Amino acid sequence: MNEVKQMLAELEAVCADPKKQLSDALTQGKKCIGVLPYFCPEELAYAAGMQPFGLWGAEMQVNDSKRYYPAFICSLLHTVLEMGLKGMLNDLSGIMVPICCDSLKGFGANWQYGVGTVPVIDVAWAQNRRLDAGTEFTRAQFRKVLGQLEEIAGHSISDADITAAISVYNKNRAALRDFSAAAARHPEAVSPSARCAAIKAGYFMDRAKHTEALQTLTTKLNALPEASWDGLRVVTTGILADSPALLQILEDNHIAIADDQIAQESVFFRVDTPVTDDPVLGMAKRFETIEGCSVLFDPGKQRGNELVELAKAAHADGILWVMTKFCDPEEYDYVPVKRKIDAAGIPLLTVEVDQQMVNYEQARSAVEAFAEMLRA
Ligand code: SF4
Repeated sequence: MNEVKQMLAELEAVCADPKKQLSDALTQGKKCIGVLPYFCPEELAYAAGMQPFGLWGAEMQVNDSKRYYPAFICSLLHTVLEMGLKGMLNDLSGIMVPICCDSLKGFGANWQYGVGTVPVIDVAWAQNRRLDAGTEFTRAQFRKVLGQLEEIAGHSISDADITAAISVYNKNRAALRDFSAAAARHPEAVSPSARCAAIKAGYFMDRAKHTEALQTLTTKLNALPEASWDGLRVVTTGILADSPALLQILEDNHIAIADDQIAQESVFFRVDTPVTDDPVLGMAKRFETIEGCSVLFDPGKQRGNELVELAKAAHADGILWVMTKFCDPEEYDYVPVKRKIDAAGIPLLTVEVDQQMVNYEQARSAVEAFAEMLRA
């Protein structure tokens, strides 16, 4: 158990100081590419020998970004822009910006005007992702991104390099899935905060090294004796569920995470990239199979069906929707997805979060009341 704690602490340390990971990569002579959510082809940067560096916002107060975005834009984008404006991301050689929600559509222009020094790589992918034309569009866009990355890297990137990078990412996704399953079996050893950190660390580390760390950790978790758990188990859904305060509230209420449908977590690793002769086509085809994210075109809201299935498979006591404040796609999804959860008779709690929040007492009261209701 001590070894498990030690390994989890190391991954928590990575998340506590991503800047150190960035400096280490730069010291090794690597160029680093910032990657905003969602579904950017970061494998292409990896294939070029560069280090993708996840930009999922930060717990901080913002000032300068308010000159570019109104207050009612999500804190994820406000805080990434704030870091850029403060020069905290000047060591990046570029940032990938997808164009998949209204707020992200303006991000590249704000960044270019306000930060300027770090070039923007626009990433478009087709919303009609199950049509051949949609897949072809995404493939062509990813090839365009590849060209920009080649310019930044200063050398060409071969299909063999891309295939190798896809393999690294697929192995990482498999390791993440195994870890998530082991963590669900051992809530006594993996707290909600530790689970989150082990997953999130991959956005700042070399993916191959992250895979090695997770595989060792999972082996040690699987070797632990079967645990009895008298707490509650929930499935989380949303964009982000990495707020230290909220995760601590779950821990305080003896609530474990049985599985998730969080964009930063399982949505990233639930499906692999298929192996195809043209590796970029495989990356585009991966879109056809991704489910459970509000930024994806999802007729009939399969997200709700998947969530219900996840909760049933995990024998969860309920679902926790971690609602990112001012996120339009999440708010649009809420009503149709909630209807499906209600129809399945699964208890749901929704807690609104914001990376600039300092007072979590309202969230604490809601979680406590939810836990009491589930235990009754
Ligand atoms: S999807 Fe939501 S959280 Fe993500 S960038 Fe857009 S508004 Fe922000």
